[in-house]
Amino acid sequence: MKPELASKSERSALAGDSELVDYDCPHSRMDVITGRWTLFANHRGERPNDFVFTATPKMTQEGCPFCKGNEASTPDPVMILPRDDSGATGQASGEGTDWGIRVVPNKYPAVGTRSCESSGSAGSSAVSPAAKHSGDPVWQSYPNQAGYSRSAERQPTPPPDAALFPVRGITGGHEVFIESPEHFTSFADLDLGQVANLLRVYQARLGHWAQQPSIRYVSLFKNAGPSAGASLLHPHSQLIAVTEMPQAIRATIDRMRRYHARTGCCLQCDVVRAELRSRRRLIAVTDRLIAYCPFASYLPMLLRITTRQHAERFEDLGDDDIDDLARLIRRSIGWLNSLYPDVAYNFLIHTRPPQAAAQQGFHWSFELFPRLTQIAGFEWSCDTVINPLLPEDAATRLRAVALRENPLRD
Ligand SMILES: [Zn+2]
Ligand SMILES: [Zn+2]
Repeated sequence: MKPELASKSERSALAGDSELVDYDCPHSRMDVITGRWTLFANHRGERPNDFVFTATPKMTQEGCPFCKGNEASTPDPVMILPRDDSGATGQASGEGTDWGIRVVPNKYPAVGTRSCESSGSAGSSAVSPAAKHSGDPVWQSYPNQAGYSRSAERQPTPPPDAALFPVRGITGGHEVFIESPEHFTSFADLDLGQVANLLRVYQARLGHWAQQPSIRYVSLFKNAGPSAGASLLHPHSQLIAVTEMPQAIRATIDRMRRYHARTGCCLQCDVVRAELRSRRRLIAVTDRLIAYCPFASYLPMLLRITTRQHAERFEDLGDDDIDDLARLIRRSIGWLNSLYPDVAYNFLIHTRPPQAAAQQGFHWSFELFPRLTQIAGFEWSCDTVINPLLPEDAATRLRAVALRENPLRD
């Protein structure tokens, strides 16, 4: 049973904003000391394996909601790709069909869905006055801000308590890509055509969410293995679309835009050219793609793949790029498995956010990293990672594995 620290009304009263946000719906809160926003989705504690992060998930093939035959255990799919067929079909549940990939809404979404919006309490309009000035000291928006001056003639006037507890509803979508009907298939063992189909399904769903008027960012990621955050063993990846731009993404976009404005060049394209000249952190290069360990890798063995030609959005890549990328991603995960058998890993796709104007120097990328280290005290304390492995050494190890690979393999 989910632990209850206080009743809903008590919790809302503590934050002083009970009329604005329903805390039973996913929502975001800002710590006014650090300026950091955190997403809360408290119902996710009801997931089958939440908070189990050291042991292999106990869910067996028989009880797995993602296995073929258990289609009724998931919400109705938004997309199905039949096995051995590149044509996606519509809304059927997939039960009884020979599907290869299913995309279903997450049963335990991390963001509010339409039901939360319709409650009138956690939609994007339900933002506390303070949160409208996200990232800034919240009291600056209040008329008595002069009370915070050091003037001896004025008595300090504190803002309303709600200004110290900024909160806003977060809505959007959370989808799961079930990558195979087979429970024990690893990504590196997927058929090459299946990986390419999966990338095209990613493109379709990213494109779908990018067209929704209120969506500001779409995150596509894979958690493989319990220590990478996967609560189910069955191969799957996820998409979360949100109505607010995450701070870190905003900072990246701003940095790339400023570089483009100053130099007229794309920052990622310039980095690609410099990595090709240096070769010290290169792992693999094809006619279309480059795989390298970034100069300031924030994690050991971090591998980044992108197109050598400028391309802002992953979802705009053509068939040849996708086929090449499918091969390189599958090989990359195979290299990690060779170095660290059964290691947990994550991958992420960064693409130009919806509504971010074109011509601002954004360039898509794919990042893959094994979970070899834990975030420890210094990292939490200073928001600065200690990486025990130079990317030059990581690239040397990955290149060595790549060279030993059977060159005739897909
Ligand atoms: Zn399964
Ligand atoms: Zn570029």
